[in-house]
Amino acid sequence: MDLTSLQTQARALDAADALSPLRELFDLPPDVVYLDGNSLGPLPRSARRAVTHALEQEWGQGLIRSWGRAGWLQRAAEVGDRLAPLLGVGPGEVMVADSTSLNLYKVLAVAMELADLEGVAVERMATERMAFGQPSDPPGGASEERAGVRPRRVLLTEADNFPTDRYLAQRLCAERGWELRICAPQADGRFDASQLAAPEVAVLMLTQVHYRTGALHDMQAINRQASAHGVLTVWDLAHSAGALPVALRHPGAECDFAVGCGYKYLNGGPGAPAFVWVHPRHVERAEQPLRGWLGHARPFDFAADYAPAPGIARYVCGTPPILSLTALQAGVETLRAADALGGMSALRAKSLSLTDFFRRACAVLVPPGSLECITPLDAAHRGSQLSFAVRPPRSAARIMATLIERGVIGDHRPGDASVPDILRFGFAPLYNTHADALRAAECLGAVLRTG
Ligand SMILES: *Cc1c(COP(=O)(O)O)cnc(C)c1O
Repeated sequence: MDLTSLQTQARALDAADALSPLRELFDLPPDVVYLDGNSLGPLPRSARRAVTHALEQEWGQGLIRSWGRAGWLQRAAEVGDRLAPLLGVGPGEVMVADSTSLNLYKVLAVAMELADLEGVAVERMATERMAFGQPSDPPGGASEERAGVRPRRVLLTEADNFPTDRYLAQRLCAERGWELRICAPQADGRFDASQLAAPEVAVLMLTQVHYRTGALHDMQAINRQASAHGVLTVWDLAHSAGALPVALRHPGAECDFAVGCGYKYLNGGPGAPAFVWVHPRHVERAEQPLRGWLGHARPFDFAADYAPAPGIARYVCGTPPILSLTALQAGVETLRAADALGGMSALRAKSLSLTDFFRRACAVLVPPGSLECITPLDAAHRGSQLSFAVRPPRSAARIMATLIERGVIGDHRPGDASVPDILRFGFAPLYNTHADALRAAECLGAVLRTG
């Protein structure tokens, strides 16, 4: 295999790509290979028009009347409904609001509250049974291990999850007397689902695609095990929503809570609002902790006391950022434009083809031994990015700075004592091509050869 045959392959793969017209939906600088859509998606051409309209007509001319006339009040729920099929859920189940961090705070707090409520109910049952002279629990009964003896107050998560996820969990656990348990991966790097069997584990929080390694969890298998042990699941979809088909309600393997980012693969623009989903069976069982007037059942009564809105609308806190929300709406429509071309499963097939081709091109063009790919090779276990460990004396920051100077934009993340510095290359199947992958591999090879 040499450069010429890679070029031939790239041309053939791009020529056969039915999704290639979608690249035209974006305003990408012509001289740039953009492989950082997992951090900030590019500008959809339609976002420019939509935001200009929202700015000049809706805000400029409509003024406050636009909350009603221009549909500002419904926009967050509407964008949630357009996003819903990409997550495998129905209309009315997803709300766009706030940041991923804030939404994670809301759902973690609710998951912990539901787990605590369940613990109280089980303890009460046990006490009542004892009062009536019955054994405290039927032997082998599902509630036996929960009853009284050890409170179920462990939040389980994975090692080196994204900082916001860890920080929020640390604080919530400290406040509520819970333990945050960090689960080390198995030898093959996968999540160790046997940890779910520990009777004190009540909530599991995972990021579906790991932000550093790009490893993809087997969400369905994990959900099945979690549910068999009565553990609630909270999924962060920051690196999966819009990059691969997500099935939050896969029959027999449903998630309990999920949040995700608007500005990554959804192309919603810098600081775009995020989304939140709560399983309909839980959504009205608890209030989220950030009571705000717009999450009220009747916000325009301006009532003295709070009453949560029905359904996912209660996860709204305050006034939505209409201009950002309008840009996000355009971003979500760039993904929906793929519906007619095979939708998320076609996008997933192309994403796998891009990461596979990039890996093969790197194997030819990058000096042997200079980088180590830490993303699983196996398609079932990788998301839409490839990450490479960089070890001293090489510097991931310097390598990436040089790549960016040469028009190949990825990013790097610092390591620490336990994990190496990495280079990340995110592939967005809506607009990236195999030619992009080849140019990035060539450039990376050149930078590493010259040191
Ligand atoms: C990007 C990312 C976030 C971002 O949170 P913000 O509140 O939007 O800053 C959260 N979680 C993960 C796993 C991420 O990758």
